[in-house]
Order: sequence, then structure tokens, then C-alpha cells
Amino acid sequence: MVERYCRPIAVLSLLFFSLQIFCVREQRRAEENRAVEILDGDTITLSNGITVRYVGIDTPEEGEPFYSEAKEANERLVKGNTVRLEFDLQARDKYGRMLAYVYVDTLMVNLWLLKEGLANIYPHPPNLRHLQEFCAVQKQAREEHLGIWSLPPPREATHYLALKDSYRFHRPSCSAVKDKPPEELRVYSTREEALNDCLSPCRSCRP
Ligand SMILES: [Zn+2]
Repeated sequence: MVERYCRPIAVLSLLFFSLQIFCVREQRRAEENRAVEILDGDTITLSNGITVRYVGIDTPEEGEPFYSEAKEANERLVKGNTVRLEFDLQARDKYGRMLAYVYVDTLMVNLWLLKEGLANIYPHPPNLRHLQEFCAVQKQAREEHLGIWSLPPPREATHYLALKDSYRFHRPSCSAVKDKPPEELRVYSTREEALNDCLSPCRSCRP
């Protein structure tokens, strides 16, 4: 008689205990993904100490126009919030930072910053899952002269060059392309053409 009741109770207790462990673990996981520090427009630190770089975009560096706007927008969206991370083919860059598409609820912050003109696309191959979408959204921001696209364009070059397997474009005088044979290069007659082709400007020659 005792056994008849005890066994189901034991099974139920075990189930309840397992459920409790599961809930604690889920809660901890959610806490770990809370954004505690905003380093700039595209880099944050999570409560577990991990630094996350928003993959596929680049926001202005300190001292550049729209640096504060991008950082503040990022702060408003993610600080103190639990974020969901989506990974592409590589979860880390060469500096050991985590590379991710960062979501607050259903909003992807990487994409939102591009939409507002607070970032430009910065493809990190082989992490190109959202490149076409990012490129289209950036084009829209450019056409609407939002954020960084409201600034006067850099001094015009005669033409622009990109290595065939690369996602950066350069001034012809840039050391990255200067001595390369023509068959390794793509040529663009305007900056707009290179941007439309989903390339990002070189950080050194700033085309
Ligand atoms: Zn360059």
C-alpha cells in the first residue's frame, strides 16, 4: 500500500527537482547575456565578462563625427537588457572578441544602426549571412542622407580599387592596392559604385 503511493511521489519529486534545475540554469543563462557595458557603437560587454563585437558593421571611432550618437543609440537599446546572440560561421575574431548579430527582443541592433545611418557595413568574411540585407538597408540610409551619410563625402579620387577577394575599397595610392597586378583588382569609377557593391571604405586611405 505504501509502495503504491510512494513510487509515483518519488517520480514526481524527481521531475519537479529536474524542472527546478532547468529553470535556474535558464535564468542564469539569461542573466549572463545581459549587456552591462557599452564600449562604443558596435562593442558591448556582457555580465559574464565576454566582449561582443557586432559583426558585419562598423560604427565611428572616438573623435569621428557620429561617434557619440552611435554609442548613445547602442546604449539606449541594449544597456541593462538581456540580449540574444546569433552567430555566423565564426564566433570569434582574431582578437578573441565574440562576433555576433545582437538582438533585443526581435530587433537586430546591427541592422538598426545601419538603418539609422549610425554605422556602415563592414563585412567580416566568412561571416556574410546578412550582407545583402545590410547592404540594402545602408543604401536606403545613404539615399536619405541619415547620420554619417549626411556628412560631406571625402575628397574625390580619380577611381577606386578593391582586391578581387576583398570587401574593402581604396584610393589608387593606398599601399593595399598600389603595386597589385590589374588582374587582381576591381575598378570602380565612383565611391557610390563601390558602396553599392557592398564594399566598405578602407580605414587607412579613407576613400
Ligand atoms: Zn586603403
